[in-house]
Amino acid sequence: ELLRSLGREADEDISSKIMDAIDPQNIEDTLRILSKKPHIAGRQGDFDLVKFIQTRFRDHGLEVSTTPYDALLSYPNDQVANSVRILDADGEIVYDSVRDESDVSHLEDVVPPFNAYAPARKVEGQLVYVNYGRVEDYDWLRSSGINVTGHIVLSKLGQIFRGDIVDHAADNGAVGVVTFPDPADYAGVRYGDNRFAPEAWWMPPDGVQRGTVFTGFSDPLTPGYPANSLAYRYPEDKVDPHLPKIPCQPISYGAAYELLRRMAGRIAPPSWQGGLNVKYKLGPGFTDSGLKLELNVTNKNKRAKVENVFGIIRGEIEPDRYVLVGNHRDAWIYGALDPSSGTVVMMEIARVMGKMVKEGTWRPRRSIMFCSWGAEEYGLIGSAEWVEQYVAVLRERAVGYLNIDIALRGNDTLRVGAAPLMHSLVYEASRKVRNPNPAEIQAGRATVYDTWQHVTAGSSDGKPRIAGLGSGSDYAPLLQKAGITAVEVSYIYDYRKYRMSSYPLYHTEYETFDIVKNQYDRDFQFHAALSRFMGEMARNLADSLILPFNLDGYSEGLKLIKRKLDASDYGVKLKAMLDNYGKLDDVISGFEADIIDFQKRLEKIDKNNPYAVRRMNDQILLLEKAFLISEGLPTRPSKKHILFAENSNDAYAESTFPGLVDLLFKIDSAPGSAERWERVKRHFSAILHTIQTAGATLRDVT
Ligand code: GLU
Ligand code: CA
Ligand code: ZN
Ligand code: ZN
Repeated sequence: ELLRSLGREADEDISSKIMDAIDPQNIEDTLRILSKKPHIAGRQGDFDLVKFIQTRFRDHGLEVSTTPYDALLSYPNDQVANSVRILDADGEIVYDSVRDESDVSHLEDVVPPFNAYAPARKVEGQLVYVNYGRVEDYDWLRSSGINVTGHIVLSKLGQIFRGDIVDHAADNGAVGVVTFPDPADYAGVRYGDNRFAPEAWWMPPDGVQRGTVFTGFSDPLTPGYPANSLAYRYPEDKVDPHLPKIPCQPISYGAAYELLRRMAGRIAPPSWQGGLNVKYKLGPGFTDSGLKLELNVTNKNKRAKVENVFGIIRGEIEPDRYVLVGNHRDAWIYGALDPSSGTVVMMEIARVMGKMVKEGTWRPRRSIMFCSWGAEEYGLIGSAEWVEQYVAVLRERAVGYLNIDIALRGNDTLRVGAAPLMHSLVYEASRKVRNPNPAEIQAGRATVYDTWQHVTAGSSDGKPRIAGLGSGSDYAPLLQKAGITAVEVSYIYDYRKYRMSSYPLYHTEYETFDIVKNQYDRDFQFHAALSRFMGEMARNLADSLILPFNLDGYSEGLKLIKRKLDASDYGVKLKAMLDNYGKLDDVISGFEADIIDFQKRLEKIDKNNPYAVRRMNDQILLLEKAFLISEGLPTRPSKKHILFAENSNDAYAESTFPGLVDLLFKIDSAPGSAERWERVKRHFSAILHTIQTAGATLRDVT
């Protein structure tokens, strides 16, 4: 009897019971509450939501706990505002961008436009236009004889993480950075729509994208260890990774127009032209040579309380195995999209599952932890500190992590980023969820999978496209530091139609409840579909007797990233320089053989033998963790996963074999390139070894 209960298979009926109980009206009501007031990290609005979420979790019957940290945050100075001004020769103000977002209701704690951690400094100079501020943009400027040293750069947003825009500018000698969302990337004009928020989902002329420009993650002062009362805190000028080195301020495209129309210099190339009604010039400086730009940043760094809230359903049979479902709570302002659209999805799953457990309908085999992260907007602080605190536990016990941040970037199709082990889980769940879009059902696409496949068709295997995981949300520390297999889900606009890298109103004061209801999801059916999709993945991970990871997905994933490496310039270089480059194929084949062998044994497992089940489940659970290396990546020791990290030049992008990519970046022109090649060789051996031992963890235990 005991053995039978330990070896129980998941009851598939639970799947539809969860789906049926998801309630769009409840989601709507909760979003209204969450997005009513500004809830920036470290201030009262966020503390109030900590209480609210605790109370809700408790009402749903979950065990509730919190982990408080004391971390370095950053805010604008309420005495002297940040400013971007054009001054004449006498120092008189010719133009001041101060009016950005001044028309929107100004509740207390609506934070004016700023970039978190941009240092307080006043700089003056000539303006240079740098397109999107990417490495290749500076390469082009250099080859065209334009040097930004000593100047202030004007950069469009939207191609790379804004913190990397600032780092690249500083590396190239700039003294300050001004960023703006170009209407070509954020407004509807190019799609024939001249409206903007609140009448449409497009960026208005005075909208400004806030956001951190710190390129590390976790609390800046306590790298490696949790920011609690035991922590050693570095002085701000000694922290590694470093805080932003030069001042930076975001402005609207209305303000950018005022700068661009006065600019001197050569006309920028056609591909650098944007959507404003002006010829974009490169600078430096203004046509009226008496004018100069003044950038005054007055932000203050300040330590504040950052809390994570957990709601836990204790597993029935394996309570020490954790399935994590998470979302951040803090927002720049109202955050109705980022992150509260995701918060309501997580809370709805918690409500439905909690109720079933309370009523005795169901209790999952493993524990499910709902995680409401604090201060994500400041550099994934809550989740990263938690990983720093509990990494030893998580490496032993965490099964997988399901992340949702901005639930709706649009409402055309699913978007998924995932580690290879998650792929089959994702596909399976998406096939079970009814399409929230009636027009799509009419067109014969009954499930979210069908639309997703339709929109992303063209991938080699006919399956919908799943992206890799760079950084930009809380899955990154969990995957990269604790080796927790992760997935991130959202709905998004049809990228075949909209050439945008984020939704237009991202990080503005216009991200309100009304925008979500009127422009994205009137009946909250898309939120409900995401809740069903994510709830089903959580159920499957928590309840299946054998962990539902597709192991051959990992060998396929490895082969895929190896092919990508081969096809890149770096691959060509490696092949020429390393005698053992071919060994990479050998160890990958060996890994694949180990997986095939493991799966054969798994098919024959005696499911009534709980030790056998637990033994093989542990091998599956620990596979991702086998790709962590204790010394970390060669130039980024805090990143431990040898296969996946964010790209060092753009935190939003993924880098595969990131240690190699870091070392090979501009290696030919790098000083000490011979020494660098030795490091490449050392790291390459570490990769070979790690893949081989990852395979070994799957071998029979005797
Ligand atoms: N999601 C936030 C942003 O994109 C924080 C990302 C990060 O610090 O990595 O601004
Ligand atoms: Ca820390
Ligand atoms: Zn977010
Ligand atoms: Zn955000």
